[in-house]
Amino acid sequence: KELPADQDETISRRQVLGACYSYVSPRMPANPELVHYSDELAKELGLENDTSSAAFLGLVSGRTVYPGTSPFAMCYGGHQFGNWAGQLGDGRAINLFEMEHGGNSWAVQLKGAGETPYSRTADGLAVLRSSVREHLCSEAMHHLGVPTTRSLALVLSGDQVLRDILYDGNPEYEKGAIVTRVAPSFIRFGNFQILASRNDVTNLKLLADYTIRHFFTGISSAGKEKYLEFYQEVAGKTLEMVLDWQRVGFVHGVMNTDNMSILGLTIDYGPYGWMEDFNPDWTPNTTDAHKRRYRFANQPHIALWNLVQLGNALYPLIQDVPAMEKILDDCNSRFDTRYHQMMQAKLGLVGNYDDTLHDELQTVLKASETDMTIFYRNLSNVSKSDLAADALEKVRDAFYKPEEIRGKIKAGWIRWFTIYLEKVGREPISDKVRKTRMNLTNPKYVLRNYMAQLAIDAAENGDYAVMEEFYALLKNPYGEQAENEKWFAKRPEWARHKVGCSM
Ligand code: AMP
Ligand code: MG
Ligand code: MG
Repeated sequence: KELPADQDETISRRQVLGACYSYVSPRMPANPELVHYSDELAKELGLENDTSSAAFLGLVSGRTVYPGTSPFAMCYGGHQFGNWAGQLGDGRAINLFEMEHGGNSWAVQLKGAGETPYSRTADGLAVLRSSVREHLCSEAMHHLGVPTTRSLALVLSGDQVLRDILYDGNPEYEKGAIVTRVAPSFIRFGNFQILASRNDVTNLKLLADYTIRHFFTGISSAGKEKYLEFYQEVAGKTLEMVLDWQRVGFVHGVMNTDNMSILGLTIDYGPYGWMEDFNPDWTPNTTDAHKRRYRFANQPHIALWNLVQLGNALYPLIQDVPAMEKILDDCNSRFDTRYHQMMQAKLGLVGNYDDTLHDELQTVLKASETDMTIFYRNLSNVSKSDLAADALEKVRDAFYKPEEIRGKIKAGWIRWFTIYLEKVGREPISDKVRKTRMNLTNPKYVLRNYMAQLAIDAAENGDYAVMEEFYALLKNPYGEQAENEKWFAKRPEWARHKVGCSM
């Protein structure tokens, strides 16, 4: 129902009815400059020999549209912080094209390349700081083995973007930037929700059939069974993604249903953050600081809540409440099983899950500020012959305030290590095997919040070396990198309350 881009002279903001997307052209950047690209992803796309070409810069900056393609922005809705928000849509993402390489197919989109019909009151642009965060973190997540959208390139558009009005009434401008995101598909829960909310069952079915045909190719049933299987698969992928977040200490920050990929990919790197000192109540999202809906410990619950909303959207195609509820129940119990396996793996244990061991660990981890990444990584150095006090010494680097580890807190740790060592002692695997396995589960290097900030601060001054350093570091998060020990360290005190921003 939309006009092709060349006929669509004014990109007016509007309700887009009876359609899944709108054609739209990227905005012409003033003076594009390639800041960084992912050499790994470029290789996966078969573009490794093109990244220094003018044609590449043209594409990833939105300056040129690839001949024969018709860029478009997608229409979706969503629940934001638990409330239905109506039409949202790609307000600053523009899909360029889809491509195939090496047997895989990819959708390529620009984030921050200008207005679309879905921009609502905003400008369709992105600034350097949020783009650095998205570019670095999506590639880091990929290398951590967490399902995610990818980031091919980061460019400066050469435009100035208004982000703040200062207290004196003067506007504050920031450098505009564009990230090229890549994923098999960017379809979200919200794409289904918006159609269901408008009783547009014809397009709902078209979209579901399209999604299944292209991305859920294992599904061969027909009728309602087909959509039930689809729902089940989406549920499974979503929970595996969240399991990975819990494993590495990632807090998404805005798990609105419009930010839930139908493929179970981490998408929309806004106010995300990494758990530094272990705190299940922590959220990096300052707008959620009061209710903490999207806090670390609540992510699995929210994923299920979002799946219920997806279920509501798919209901017209299924119309079988008991079957849908069964999927959610099964999913819930499978999550518990998988969560237990994951937590056991973090501790390097192969035996049965023991509630006491895991619950008490949470208690001691919270008793004094304890760095999650350093704790789990160094735990792999514990050996069967250690006494509890020896083992505690081995994780001492994880404590932000080592002087607090005395009295009751120390006694709690000694008690915990006593139970842990008893379990470790009874297990059939050697110290060496346990360590190897644990180090494949517990990363050594993550994009700590202050590290993202260091990369941003340097980039704002035209220095992209820090970004490149972290990009390279985070390609191998589970490995030992002797030259990079300094990034296996607690957050410095100046960075205590530093978490990046989403705009
Ligand atoms: P988010 O909170 O990032 O998931 O965004 C929610 C909605 O706001 C989505 O529809 C986005 O496309 C839209 N949005 C966010 N930032 C901008 C922007 N700078 N310009 C236009 N739309 C935006
Ligand atoms: Mg979003
Ligand atoms: Mg966002």
